[in-house]
Amino acid sequence: MIGEGAKTYGTSRDRIKGVYYASEMYECERKLYYAYNYKVEHDFETKKNFEIGNSLHNLVQGSLMLYAKNNPEIKLFNELEDLKIIDDENGYEIHGRLDTIIYGENESNHIIEFKTTGSLNRINNPVNHHIEQINYYLHFFPKYEGHLIYINKKPKGSLKKYENFKEFRGITYNDAMFKADIEKVKNVNYKIKNNILPEPEAKLKKEKNWECWYCPFRQKCDNNEN
Ligand code: SF4
Repeated sequence: MIGEGAKTYGTSRDRIKGVYYASEMYECERKLYYAYNYKVEHDFETKKNFEIGNSLHNLVQGSLMLYAKNNPEIKLFNELEDLKIIDDENGYEIHGRLDTIIYGENESNHIIEFKTTGSLNRINNPVNHHIEQINYYLHFFPKYEGHLIYINKKPKGSLKKYENFKEFRGITYNDAMFKADIEKVKNVNYKIKNNILPEPEAKLKKEKNWECWYCPFRQKCDNNEN
């Protein structure tokens, strides 16, 4: 089993080749390849950003929990079990923990994924990565409705203010997307385990170019280092 012992503070998390996470499996293939071969030392700013993001995330989840306690018709769960896919034949597994499930009235059930962002104003549509991540969870609950909630990392005034959030509702399970993502993990896993450097996916696909801006492996990638 994995998940336990994974570290996200100080350095990038300890990784085991063959073990992947729903929150990362949509990233640039080459970036994933490097992440499983080289550890990244995060600088102070990055660590601070992680901490701010985690704290806001926990605060909002906690507030929702409180709301549900005061509204007994709503059942809400935050601490959820690992949603895993294990493919022994191809030697990989995927793990994911969704943020929140809400069982509402009239059998309306919802999966909520929270994301913190420093650029809330620029988010007019849900980020593709995040749709794919929530789609992974919806695979286990295909009749539920998915919601992505973006939280402003630099809240203006009280965090309660609506302007500090953007919500995208009505995300439904997409089986073709799920299958394509699983196929991608299978292929990347093969490359990672056999030391085959993947194509620089984010450089080649316009809609993924932005990943390069934040990539800690930029130099290696520019030099096509293996
Ligand atoms: S620089 Fe861009 S293309 Fe290269 S590994 Fe990073 S994200 Fe991928």
